[in-house]
Amino acid sequence: MQYHLNGYTCGDPAVAVEHRQAVGKQPVLPLPSQVDVLIVGCGPAGLTLAAQLANFHGIHVAIVDQKTKPLQVGQADGIACRTMEMFQAFGFADRVVKEAYWVNETVFWKPAPENPVSIARHGRVQDTEDGLSEFPHVILNQARVHDFFLDLMSKSVGQISPYYARSFKHLEMLENTSTESDSYPITAYFEDASEGKTSQEAVRAKYVVGCDGARSAVRESIGLQLKGDSANKAWGVMDVLAITDFPDIRFKCLIQSAAGSIVLIPREGGHMVRLYVELDDLEANQRVSGKQISIEQLIAKAQKIFIPYQIDVKDIAWWSVYQIGQRLCDKFDDVPYGELKQSPRVFIAGDACHTHSPKAGQGMNVSMRDSFNLGWKLASVLQGKCSPNLLHTYSNERQSVARELIEFDQQWTKIVSSANKRKDKIGTETSAESEEFQRYFVKHARYTAGTSIQYKPSMISAEGEYQRLATGFTIGTRFHSAPVVRVADAKPMHLGHVVLADGRWRIFLFADEAHPSDKASTLSKLCDYFLTDKNSLVNRYTPSSADIDSVFDIRAVYQQDIHAINICDVPKILLPHKGRYGLRDYEKCFCIDRKLNNDIYTMRGIDKRHGCIVVVRPDQHIATVLPLDAHSQLLQFFAPFMLPITT
Ligand SMILES: Cc1cc2nc3c(=O)[nH]c(=O)nc-3n(C[C@H](O)[C@H](O)[C@H](O)COP(=O)(O)OP(=O)(O)OC[C@H]3O[C@@H](n4cnc5c(N)ncnc54)[C@H](O)[C@@H]3O)c2cc1C
Repeated sequence: MQYHLNGYTCGDPAVAVEHRQAVGKQPVLPLPSQVDVLIVGCGPAGLTLAAQLANFHGIHVAIVDQKTKPLQVGQADGIACRTMEMFQAFGFADRVVKEAYWVNETVFWKPAPENPVSIARHGRVQDTEDGLSEFPHVILNQARVHDFFLDLMSKSVGQISPYYARSFKHLEMLENTSTESDSYPITAYFEDASEGKTSQEAVRAKYVVGCDGARSAVRESIGLQLKGDSANKAWGVMDVLAITDFPDIRFKCLIQSAAGSIVLIPREGGHMVRLYVELDDLEANQRVSGKQISIEQLIAKAQKIFIPYQIDVKDIAWWSVYQIGQRLCDKFDDVPYGELKQSPRVFIAGDACHTHSPKAGQGMNVSMRDSFNLGWKLASVLQGKCSPNLLHTYSNERQSVARELIEFDQQWTKIVSSANKRKDKIGTETSAESEEFQRYFVKHARYTAGTSIQYKPSMISAEGEYQRLATGFTIGTRFHSAPVVRVADAKPMHLGHVVLADGRWRIFLFADEAHPSDKASTLSKLCDYFLTDKNSLVNRYTPSSADIDSVFDIRAVYQQDIHAINICDVPKILLPHKGRYGLRDYEKCFCIDRKLNNDIYTMRGIDKRHGCIVVVRPDQHIATVLPLDAHSQLLQFFAPFMLPITT
């Protein structure tokens, strides 16, 4: 899609500019007095959580922001492949794919050896390796990502809309908090942030999640601190429409020149470009606002870095100068480290618990994935499906991810700045040193794509005794989707796309060589056990009034050719009767995509002789891999955190 030709305009590019409604201040509605989950902050972390929770019946959520209206422009823009996979689970990845800029290649520019005052192209690499994800790495304004979440929230069963113009002040927690999920032990206090108002409101909540950014008041109210380097790194960033003779203006570029560094990010719409201009380090206790840097100074600095190329800025959509430190909280909830008897009630997510430079484009991505990790856990506890001890896994899992991110960011910053130091001694940089810089970038592409994150063994991530049965589905990592064909209607599709953000567990059964109609096969026996044994996973945890796949969504992949399978021959649980009329669900069985030679068994290292079970968590991470006959081990995996049905 091409847009922004005649200047930057906010909103949906599919709507003609003439018909786009300007988003004004939102009505200030009274806050509810009592909710299940109170979310503070409408940034990417808060909106992901609200969108996830909006998917559930009976969970009362309020999301509150001090701003008077939704974000319109600016802030983060990079969307990693893994985040696109998450958007697919929310159902709007296709909208992002259509609107966004796709980062296909990254180009490196250096001082030209023969004339170091000028820059010269030094290398060019593919941005993400083939097969890493079915989704591209893309760039789209954070405000559009917010729009998609807001749209989803308003249409979901929970119909959530944010409460604007309220500033969170502090919270009080009842002493000796009951672990019962039906008590409301927290009272949060807000001030009306609209002009001239000073009224206070209180909201009682079962759980509070602080998604209120780097200066989080929720974090402060539970006595946590961001620790690490002080914010001495300053960045100038501008989204501009410009005329230039720089040949790589539509490629992501890392430019190191004698005059400084720029990270160039082409933007959606085909014309706009973002320039990150790295500014000098700040002195101790110095604030970047004190330096009074103007947009004219930023443009002038960028023009110097681009020499010998010209860049003539015609329109400035957004610009900012901000400072950032590499900082992290020890804990992402209100329970002291190692204290397992008490269940967490207050959580923090996103920039509230980790901050780092924008160089690797991780801020928005990691923040959204924090709350994607938390959302299903909160919903499961509130719905009485899981015990509150599950909530400890949020801080454990996400704090480790954030720690790795900070370490990566520190390393990356060191490499960029040592390249800058070499560059200061003009002409001394060897091509081997430059290549090392590029090699580091390529090596860590999986990390920045978000696909290499692996949760450590815990109550929801197994040790991996049977990992050999599916070597490409590494326990703890996200389920790496692969193509399959749906048996009932021969639709070619991605298996991972059945994992929606609906709080359900997916149990993928990869069949051994036996035919689907073979009633004596291990897969058929497992399916019968699910239905007939009153202690099976399905019967133990699925309410009798709910659809049979409402807690565990069981799907099978067969090795036979599609024409050799009669859908009516598959085990009953793979053709379940659902809904008011008991209609059959025909979408549970798949086979190998032979036409395009995409064999999921080969692609993901699945043992064809024995088959296996792959259990996928509601946040798309792999929980365990087990043999098809491991009936009791499957049950044992869920027992520590799931609550049997009482009716
Ligand atoms: C000005 C700015 C520019 C940025 N530019 C870039 C960039 O160029 N590239 C990049 O990668 N990243 C950038 N970031 C960082 C990136 O936007 C964040 O990493 C990402 O938005 C984190 O999401 P979050 O939801 O955790 O927090 P945020 O996006 O910061 O959202 C926090 C929300 O909480 C609200 N809030 C805060 N305090 C309260 C309170 N007391 N009561 C009620 N509401 C409150 C805020 O209004 C805000 O809407 C920028 C951030 C900011 C603030």
